[in-house]
Amino acid sequence: MSVTDMDITMLKGVGPAKALQLQRELGIFTLGDLLMHFPYRYLDRSHVTKVSELDADSSLVVLRGHISQPQAQIGRTPLLKATFTDPTGSIELVWFKGLRWIQDSIKVGYEYLVMGKPTVFGNQISIAHPDLELLSGTQGTDHTPLPFIPVYNSTEKLKNAGLSSKGMARLMENAFRMLEGHLSEILPASVVAQYQLPSRYEAMRMIHFPRNHQEIAIATQRMKFEELFLLHLDYQYAKYERQRKNNGLVFNTVGEHFNRFYAEKLPFELTGAQKRVVKEIRNDMRSGKQMNRLLQGDVGSGKTLVALLCMLIALDNGCQSCLMAPTEILATQHYNTLCRMTEGLGIRIELLTGSVKAAAKRKIKQRLQEGEVDLLIGTHALIEESVQFHNLGFVVIDEQHRFGVAQRSKLWTKNEIPPHILVMTATPIPRTLAMTLYGDLECSVIDELPPGRKPIRTTHATEAQRLAVYGFLRKQIALGRQVYVVYPLIQESEKMDLVDLMNGYDAMVSYFPLPQYQISIVHGKMPPDVKAYEMERFKKGEANIMVSTTVIEVGVDVPNATVMMVENAERFGLSQLHQLRGRVGRGADQSYCILMTKNNLSTTAKERIQTMVNSNDGFRIAEADLKLRGPGDIQGLQQSGILDLRLADIVDDEPLVRSSRESVQAILDVDPTLSNPEHYSLLLYLRNKRNGINWGKIS
Ligand code: ADP
Ligand code: MG
Repeated sequence: MSVTDMDITMLKGVGPAKALQLQRELGIFTLGDLLMHFPYRYLDRSHVTKVSELDADSSLVVLRGHISQPQAQIGRTPLLKATFTDPTGSIELVWFKGLRWIQDSIKVGYEYLVMGKPTVFGNQISIAHPDLELLSGTQGTDHTPLPFIPVYNSTEKLKNAGLSSKGMARLMENAFRMLEGHLSEILPASVVAQYQLPSRYEAMRMIHFPRNHQEIAIATQRMKFEELFLLHLDYQYAKYERQRKNNGLVFNTVGEHFNRFYAEKLPFELTGAQKRVVKEIRNDMRSGKQMNRLLQGDVGSGKTLVALLCMLIALDNGCQSCLMAPTEILATQHYNTLCRMTEGLGIRIELLTGSVKAAAKRKIKQRLQEGEVDLLIGTHALIEESVQFHNLGFVVIDEQHRFGVAQRSKLWTKNEIPPHILVMTATPIPRTLAMTLYGDLECSVIDELPPGRKPIRTTHATEAQRLAVYGFLRKQIALGRQVYVVYPLIQESEKMDLVDLMNGYDAMVSYFPLPQYQISIVHGKMPPDVKAYEMERFKKGEANIMVSTTVIEVGVDVPNATVMMVENAERFGLSQLHQLRGRVGRGADQSYCILMTKNNLSTTAKERIQTMVNSNDGFRIAEADLKLRGPGDIQGLQQSGILDLRLADIVDDEPLVRSSRESVQAILDVDPTLSNPEHYSLLLYLRNKRNGINWGKIS
C-alpha cells in the first residue's frame, strides 16, 4: 500500500471530527484524496491591499499592519473584537471561536499579515476569523514564508471543524512531511519525459506551495494533462478491449432486401458523403469485429436513410435491427418514414413505445422473440428487460446525446454476440467533445447536404418588430406555406412556460383569426392522441400555423413549412436553435428562421444570437455554443465525466486535450493490453476505476 492510500485519520492534526467533515464535505478519505484538493486561488503576500482601498466588492485580501488587544464583547453570543490598523485606516477583526487562544496569542505592537474576506456593514468594515501571520520579531516561525498563500475551498461546517483555508493548508504541510519527497507516478516515465512534465511529487508540491507564478503554471499544466490523459485512457482502453475480443457478427452479404430497395425504392441519388459513410459501415460490419460507430451529420443531411440501408444489410444477413429514438414523436416519425420507404418489400417493421397498449405490446414482443419482426423502432422502452430479440444484429441509436453510455451498453447485451452499434447525433458535436466523450467510438461524418437545399435565412427580431414579423408570416401563409412558432420549455419552470405558451397561442389566434387561419397547438402535457391529432392537422396542411413547445424539436418533417419563429430565443441553447431551424428548409422554397428576443440582451446572448444569424453550419455552431456556455450547459453531458474534471477545461485546454489523447493512443497502439510493466500503474488505475474507486482522487 502506498502512502497515498493511507486513511486520512492517520494524518497528524486530523481527529475524528475533522475526518468526518473532510469525508462528508469534500469526499476526502485518504491522503491521496487530500492532495487532489487543490487551491482554487493564491494570495500573493507581496500584493498587500491598503485599508483605504477596501470596499464592498473586495474579495480575499492581504493586509499588513498592527492589531489591538482583542476585547470580549458583552452580548448573547460571546465574541472578541480587535482593531486592525495600517497607515491608511482601520477595520475591525472579529472572532466567535477559539476566543481564549486568540486573546492570549495576539502580540500587540508587532506587525501582522492579515488575510480574509472583508464585509462592509454601514461604515464599518470587518473581517471575521482572519488568518493571521506574525511578521516582525518572528520567534516561533521556523521558515521564511512562501510568497503565495494557497486558498482552499471551505464551507461553514469545515470552518467549524477548524478547516478554514489556513487549517487546510496546515494539513497539506503535514501531508507533505509524510510523503518525504516521494509520490508514485501514474503516468509512464516515457510520457513524463516526452512531455517534459515535472514529477507528480514536484507538481503537487508546486500546486500547494508554489514559490513563484511559473511553478503554479507548470504544475497546473501537468495535473491537467494527467487528468485528461486518464479520461482518454478510460474511453480508449474500452475501445481496444472491444476490438481485441474480435467477436462481431460478420455481414458478408448484400442481398435482396438491400438491392431491391436500392433499385426500386430509393427516391433520389445518395450524396457522396452518404455513399462514403455506408461504405465505412459496411466495412465494419464484415470485419468480424463488433462495430461501434458514431455518425455525425447536420440536420437534414440524411442520416435516417443511411441507417435504413444498414438495417437492410443486417436483414440480408438474417439479423434483426432496432432503432432507438429519444422521444415518442421521433420514434413514431421514424416508424412512419421507414414503413413508407420500404412499402411493398415485405419488411416487417414494428413500433414499440410507452403508449402502445399492453396487449399489443405483448404481441410485438412475442413476434420479436420468434424472429417475426425485422425492424423494431422505439424509445428507451427497447432496453427493458422484457424486450428479447431472436437475433439482434444491428442497433441504431438516434440522437445519442440524450442517452447515457450505460444505456448504450444495455443494448449490447441483447445478443450473445454483441450487435453492431451505430450512434447518430442530430446535434453535431464539437471536436474536443467528440474526441473525449466518444473516444471509444469510430467516427463517420456526413459533411454534405442533399443537393438543391437553399440556405435558410435567419434574422433576429425584438418586440418592436413583432407586427412586422406577423405581416411577414401572413405573406408566407398567403403563398400557401406553413409556419412554426416555438416557445421554450424549461423543466424547472414548466408551469410558467405553459402559461407563456398558452398566452402566446391566444395572441396568435387574435392576430391570425378563424376562419381564415387555422392554428394547431402541441405541448408535452397533452394526451398523446390529442397531440397526434394536432400534428396531423399541420402535416396535412389543414393548419397554417403550429404553436408548440420544443416537442417538435425533433421529428417533424413538413417540407411545406418555410418559417420557424422562435419566441424567447435567448433562452435556447444554440444547438437546440439550430435543430429547430432544421425543421424548415426541407422543400424547394426559400425558408426563414426568425429569432424573437426581448430588447435588452446581455453581450453573450447577443453574441449567441448573432452566431445563429451568421452561420448555417451545425459544427461551427456547436463549437461556438461550447465556447460561449461551457460544457456544463450542454445537454446530455451530465453523466459524461467531462464535468467532473477538476482542473482541465475542454474548451480552454484544447491543446492538452489533443496531446494527452495522442499520448494515450501511442501507448495503446504498441501495448493495447497494458501488459508492459511500465504501464502497470495505468492498468491499476483502470481496474480501480472499474471497481468503482475513483483513482483520480486516490493517486
Ligand atoms: P437527418 O440527418 O436530420 O436525420 P433525414 O434523414 O431526416 O436527415 O433527411 C432529411 C431529408 O432529406 C429527408 O426528407 C430525406 O428524405 C431527404 N434526403 C436524404 N438523403 C437525400 C439525398 N441523397 N437526396 C435528396 N434528399 C435526401
Ligand atoms: Mg434525423
